[in-house]
Amino acid sequence: ERLIRTITQHIHQSLEVEQILQTTVTEVRQFLQTDRVLIYRFNPDLSGTMVVEAVLPPWVETLGLTVEDTCFLTKPGLAHRYRRGHTHHIDNVAEANIDPCYRALLTRFQVQANLVVPINCGSHLWGLLCAHHCRGPRHWQPKERALLSQLADQMAIALQQSHLLAQTATLAQQEKLFNDIISAISDSLELTDVMQRASHQMLKTLQASRSLVVLCQPNDATSEYTALAAAADITFPRGQVIPIRDNPHVQWVLSQDQPVAIADVTQEPTLAGVQPQLRKLCIGAMLDVAIRYRGIVKGMLCAHQCHASRNWTAAEAQLMKRVADHLAIAIHQAELYTQARSELAERKRLEAQLRYDASHDRLTGLPNRTLFLERLAQALDQLHHHCTNHRSLAVSTLEGAPDHCCDCQFALLFLDLDRFKVINDSLGHAMGDQLLQVVAQRLQTCLRPTDVAARLGGDEFVVLLSNLSDAAVAVSMAQRIHAILESPVLLEGHEVFIHASIGIALSATTYTDPNQVLRDADIAMYKAKGSNREYAIFDAPMHTLVMQQMELENDLCRALERCELRLYYQPIINLATGAAQGFEALVRWQHPRRGLVPPLDFIPIAENTGLIATLDLWTLNEACRQLNDWHQKLPHSHNLTVSVNLSGKQFVRRDLIQQIDAALSRNGLRGHHLKVEITESVLIQNAQMAIDLLKQLRQRHIQICMDDFGTGYSSLSYLHRFPIDVLKIDKSFITNLHRVGPSTGDYEIVKAIISLATNLNLTVVAEGIETVEQAVYLQTHQCQGGQGYYFSRPLSVEEATAFIAQLPLPSPAAKTETACRESTGPTA
Ligand code: C2E
Ligand code: MG
Ligand code: MG
Repeated sequence: ERLIRTITQHIHQSLEVEQILQTTVTEVRQFLQTDRVLIYRFNPDLSGTMVVEAVLPPWVETLGLTVEDTCFLTKPGLAHRYRRGHTHHIDNVAEANIDPCYRALLTRFQVQANLVVPINCGSHLWGLLCAHHCRGPRHWQPKERALLSQLADQMAIALQQSHLLAQTATLAQQEKLFNDIISAISDSLELTDVMQRASHQMLKTLQASRSLVVLCQPNDATSEYTALAAAADITFPRGQVIPIRDNPHVQWVLSQDQPVAIADVTQEPTLAGVQPQLRKLCIGAMLDVAIRYRGIVKGMLCAHQCHASRNWTAAEAQLMKRVADHLAIAIHQAELYTQARSELAERKRLEAQLRYDASHDRLTGLPNRTLFLERLAQALDQLHHHCTNHRSLAVSTLEGAPDHCCDCQFALLFLDLDRFKVINDSLGHAMGDQLLQVVAQRLQTCLRPTDVAARLGGDEFVVLLSNLSDAAVAVSMAQRIHAILESPVLLEGHEVFIHASIGIALSATTYTDPNQVLRDADIAMYKAKGSNREYAIFDAPMHTLVMQQMELENDLCRALERCELRLYYQPIINLATGAAQGFEALVRWQHPRRGLVPPLDFIPIAENTGLIATLDLWTLNEACRQLNDWHQKLPHSHNLTVSVNLSGKQFVRRDLIQQIDAALSRNGLRGHHLKVEITESVLIQNAQMAIDLLKQLRQRHIQICMDDFGTGYSSLSYLHRFPIDVLKIDKSFITNLHRVGPSTGDYEIVKAIISLATNLNLTVVAEGIETVEQAVYLQTHQCQGGQGYYFSRPLSVEEATAFIAQLPLPSPAAKTETACRESTGPTA
């Protein structure tokens, strides 16, 4: 009872089954006062191993010995009896009637009497508890046999407990493995990290030599170990290549759903071809499983046992399978993540590209207007923030009276290439583009790191010079830009010279908007261009001029409504007879404050603002109305015509003909009473349209005058193409007629124009005749018409009325001529 209590207590106290068994055999040997007590444990193949032993010297030690007990195996009856809990004893081996092989076994261990009780864990015969008496025969008492049986039962309980415990531990370990892998999956989206953690966990759980994950596909030629964990004494074959395509074993593993367990690699036919590699890696046994996601192979999970064979259990295989399934999800997730990441990166790249494109000029790569205005706004903000007390980076600093400047002052350089349009038109747009690129490159070489150059569009560039302490820096930068642009550019064999006009605007706290700075630099640029200077700095007078211009623009809008426009009439004289043929209607603006404003001061504004259409229409109607008025009141005026100037914008209007028809019919006039004056450029720029329109005018007997001839394209070739009636030689040629000797320069040109026009059946009218000499010269050379101060300045309505009144009444012959012209057309 004491013995049973001791051992039972022990079983309750300790969960270490080995220790329990050891204690039991020791206690039992002492209690029985016998020579050897041991526990013999059955192996799966029904051999057995002595797992614990208590033995007295000098009797042989049997611990660790494995016994192939063939005698036992051949007696199924005995095994059956043991399973039912029967004990077996021999009091005297020498006299017992036993199997010779059994006797031999007992003799080998010097046994003279033995007592054997089975240890049954449920229906499983786990092992035997044996007591050996070696010094002589011994009678085993029934009490002793019962005691040992009882102890064997206790041990069976301990064993079962331990087995259950081991099972629970394994389950717990497996769960931990899963949790680790799952947490690795959720912790990290880095696939290498996930796989590395899985390998480590597998290694630990399986107590294998190596555990590894291989990412591969069945048609890959080879793969490298992707993640690998190895036991301390095992080589770590980094960079090792695994043949895949022609590797029957790997192909087998990858084609299977379940793990492939190889207990001994030397016996496995599918591994015959890779034995050298296996030996190199010391692999004795392996357990491999394919990693598949929705049927698609992603790789392999492998475990190696090195230097030994190993019987992989079903539980281990199942564990591998579960881990592989989890890894498959992890790999898929990582793939999705990588895809998402690369999509995100691509989207970011695209966004950056879009942002870049939106803020840069495609041709030159320089910042564009938007970005430049942003930078300019920042510079302006800084100026306002830091330099509220400073007025501006005054030009005075250039003149030796340094202003108190802070370093947040800046200057804006506005560059416009001179004659770029000519280069573009003559060499083509591709070369024009190349030239702009060269300009951009050269500009950038001049700049300091803090400066910004940009292309606003066309041939306009701007440079923002920041942190300026002295306006002189802006000037020297402008000069430097000129110098760097000076060297000619070679464009496909053409040497092209670049010249730019630069306007400079200096920072001032009065600026509230970056566009204002840009505007002023632009104004200064125009000033530089107009005065043929390299650069001009924006100053107050320029500003005043611009303001006046703006004011004029606003006023002009109202001028038409307020009826401030007036027409003046300049007589056109027949040089042969000295008689007046008609008038040219010339517009003036009776400005309430400025007085009479000449057309050259406001026509360009009207053209830029689109007011010109209304203005020209008004002129046309007013001139027709006035001529009709004279026709009604003054018989002297019956043969007179009126010439009306048409701007390019008016000329291309689709309803021009209707407008003219309406003006004539409203005032009871005929087509031959009206002449329209257009310039060369208007015709050239709208050639096809012009021909159609001129034909329609001719049908109505309205004469077409080419105004300012010689100042535009000066190409005589087009005169054939257009149905023109009158050529008006520009006054610039006539003005020069008195300056040099009669045989040179303009004399020749004027003579040539007259002769050419006469050959083409055109009437010639000379503009700007101021002297009698000019009149005589033109008359001598058969110039038919003349206009100029020599005859009369442009006249107000009253003056013109008086002028007409003193004209001789038209002769009957002249009347006939008019009637004839009406029926046959002007050139007949
Ligand atoms: P244009 O059609 O060539 O008109 C002739 C210009 O020469 C007129 O200038 C006239 O005053 C000026 N002129 C005439 N004789 C002499 C002279 O002996 N010496 C000098 N130095 N000049 C002389 P104006 O009136 O200042 O008109 C200038 C230009 O404005 C006109 O040139 C014409 O192109 C344009 N213009 C005038 N009225 C209108 C209009 O109603 N509509 C349009 N679209 N343009 C107009
Ligand atoms: Mg004219
Ligand atoms: Mg003219």
